[in-house]
Amino acid sequence: MARTYLIAGNWKMHTTPPEARTLATAIAEKHNSLKPPSSVQTLICPPYISIHAALEAVAGSGVHVGAQDCHFEPKGAFTGEIAPNMVKASGCSHVILGHSERRQYFGETNGLLNKKVRAALSEGLIPIYCVGETLTERQEEWTLAVVRTQLVDGLKDISLQNASNLVIAYEPVWAIGTGLAATAEQAQEVHAAIRGFLTEILGAVGAEMLILYGGSLKPDNADEILSKPDVNGGLIGGAALQADSFAAIIAAACKIAVS
Ligand code: PEP
Repeated sequence: MARTYLIAGNWKMHTTPPEARTLATAIAEKHNSLKPPSSVQTLICPPYISIHAALEAVAGSGVHVGAQDCHFEPKGAFTGEIAPNMVKASGCSHVILGHSERRQYFGETNGLLNKKVRAALSEGLIPIYCVGETLTERQEEWTLAVVRTQLVDGLKDISLQNASNLVIAYEPVWAIGTGLAATAEQAQEVHAAIRGFLTEILGAVGAEMLILYGGSLKPDNADEILSKPDVNGGLIGGAALQADSFAAIIAAACKIAVS
């Protein structure tokens, strides 16, 4: 059976609408020339303001567009925030939630993220819920305990009916934007543990969930990391901002998916 992959680009606070149009157009062209099997999906997550331009640029290509965050309320006096139904109505299929930069710089907690995950799921969005340990936590050998708590608290009371839409991203904080990726073995060890925790929390639905790796994933380590049995794709920052490097990671996934 073909392996399923999701290759997702997190553009963070990069690209004005015209820049997003240019990058998304280049990605769509490369994506089309790779002719990915249906088991390999591509997603780009521009800043909110550039979502529309990106959607227009990828129209008809099969490349999906997502947001990088959303609020948990459907509307109200929350200046500067965007509601899940707005993300959905703008044409997005996915939303990244709990990225370590949101946790670190904006004080997002597992409790808050649980509200966001539940709200996104009930709007029919596919949340990419991010978990991962800091360097100190890894050095203290707390990685699995930290990730388990992020999952248990962040996924509390989600409806099993909606849960099959959920995607998890394991992103060790020390590997994000540092050029120092986890080794394929380190990634596999945590991904296998995450699959166990998801099964414990959500039963059979949890066992089948896509678990992406994120943290300095690049064309030169994509093959090795994506080949690991519990790795179902990548959440990519820096390498997603160049069409060539992002396409090389999609190509690695395509190769493994059809092998
Ligand atoms: C990220 O921001 O989610 C990420 C993984 O960044 P990078 O690929 O640059 O490490």
